[in-house]
Amino acid sequence: MGWEPIRKSAAERAAANLADYAQTRRDFTWEQARGWLSGLPEGAGLNIGYEAVDRHAVGERRDVVALRFLGRGDAVTEVTYGELARRTNRFANLLDSLGVRSGGRVFSLLGREPALYVTALGTLKHTSVFSPLFSAFGPQPVRERLVRGDAQVLVTTPGLYRSRVAPIRDDLPQLRHVLVTGDDPPPAGTISLDAALAGVEDTFTVPPTDPEQMALLHFTSGTTGKPKGAVHVHEAVVAHHASARFALDLRESDVFWCTADPGWVTGTSYGIIAPLTVGATMIVDPGEFDARRWYANLAEQRVTVWYTAPTALRMLMRYGDDLPARYDLSALRYIASVGEPLNAEAVVWGQRALGQPIHDNWWQTETGSIMISNYAGMDLRPGAMGTPVPGVEAGLLQRDADGRLRMDDGVPRTVDEPDVEGELALRPGWPSMFRGYLHDEARYAACFAGDWYRTGDLARRDVDGYYWFIGRADDVITSAGHLIGPFEVESLLMEHPAVAEAGVIGKPDPVAGEVVKAFISLRDGYEATDDLRLELLGFGRRRLGSVAPKEVAFDQQLPHTRSGKVMRRLLKARELGLPEGDLSTLEPSA
Ligand code: AMP
Repeated sequence: MGWEPIRKSAAERAAANLADYAQTRRDFTWEQARGWLSGLPEGAGLNIGYEAVDRHAVGERRDVVALRFLGRGDAVTEVTYGELARRTNRFANLLDSLGVRSGGRVFSLLGREPALYVTALGTLKHTSVFSPLFSAFGPQPVRERLVRGDAQVLVTTPGLYRSRVAPIRDDLPQLRHVLVTGDDPPPAGTISLDAALAGVEDTFTVPPTDPEQMALLHFTSGTTGKPKGAVHVHEAVVAHHASARFALDLRESDVFWCTADPGWVTGTSYGIIAPLTVGATMIVDPGEFDARRWYANLAEQRVTVWYTAPTALRMLMRYGDDLPARYDLSALRYIASVGEPLNAEAVVWGQRALGQPIHDNWWQTETGSIMISNYAGMDLRPGAMGTPVPGVEAGLLQRDADGRLRMDDGVPRTVDEPDVEGELALRPGWPSMFRGYLHDEARYAACFAGDWYRTGDLARRDVDGYYWFIGRADDVITSAGHLIGPFEVESLLMEHPAVAEAGVIGKPDPVAGEVVKAFISLRDGYEATDDLRLELLGFGRRRLGSVAPKEVAFDQQLPHTRSGKVMRRLLKARELGLPEGDLSTLEPSA
């Protein structure tokens, strides 16, 4: 609301990978992007692992650092592309020696440690399927996903094995091999990963790979039902690579840092695959959020491109502007963010406190790669998710008052006027589009309407084609016949100096249908008083008019999903005294 666009200079535009958005959108084809990759020698297909590792290892980038692992204190371990090729060769050979065939499912339950990268890329080179699990999951969600995903191999740590897997191992007859990291004797029923790797050769030739062969399995949660396993194929690497160049402005000379957890899709698409396909150097910090350490990483590692998330940025904002001023962030040339709404305030804060604005982008597990983005070479609208990546066609579908799509003979009606809300939809056809939910044809089919893939998000498009996030289709509030996007209300509330974070829900109301209720966590130094409550109500009313919250509650422990989103569903269930449902993705409270 009322935020000025951040203009890019002519020099910034000219220097960007995507220097002319309009022209590239017109001319770009995915076929062209395929040409940016090598393909397997002798036309043997396309393999993600080969594009990420081997093609550099056989070329001039063999001695360039691919991964730089930051340990405790100043300890740093570097792995070159050449060395990464040898280690992933060993892993592929190990899968062979264990009798795992092409298409076998290999899961990881690991933090950001070397074994994660070797497992992921070795599995892909072997043409087995890689599926990462979140290491903070408890045994129940781990079991659910291993069973649903037909896991044959699991790579984990001895500690995670004992606490998460051993208690459920009897329920997993198809899980043939568990490989554990570390030097200690492996727990009963597991194999030492290092010892097994030492026993196999470090040369391996990637077998012919059909680009349509399944490569990755990413679990995602729906609003109802069991977790869904989104299937991605080797062809996805074309979109991983192209989107990293366009939306992250990534080049081989970059030092790149992606803070995403490896258990979620960003941690694989952009935390492992895309930057390696570009030939960049990746920083890997195994630790969790720590403001001072993060600023020190940016400064000392001379990070040039940084990909992070709104929650992390908001946590950094709480520390104020003086802290980043103590670090030399001059190497940083591009910052991007994903995963949840990025409020305009954070975009502008980036520019002020870090020297770079934050470029929001949007995508989801099913899309496999960034779909809508702000770009280095384009003016940035604080609060907007950006415009579709070249090669991606986005649209908005009309919904009726009950949330059903408006259809004409099986064809959904689109929203064609600016600034009108609709369900965000995409025309399938980009390479990293998911190919199905494993064992769940019906849920897959339900994602499509006519020629459109339905994202489940609500958005609007302004007159210049920028998309603005409104909320999940199922979180939107209907009050007195008006649809209200919780994100808009939350963003506004977060502009108040007392507000650290806000979660907004629709509370049933006999007259209006629903009224807006806001749950608010306060910044340090503010007290949850009735006076402050009245002030916030007035603040909202003055700026939002009829869509302002009618109620404000203070809650210093807003529930978050493990990927950092405020769980509005849970706030709503608690408000209504309803069952809280599946909480496997709830972040444990501190
Ligand atoms: P996931 O599949 O877990 O990656 O979650 C995808 C969902 O996160 C999207 O459908 C959106 O609801 C939300 N999301 C991702 N990126 C953004 C963004 N830039 N702004 C707002 N919401 C986002």
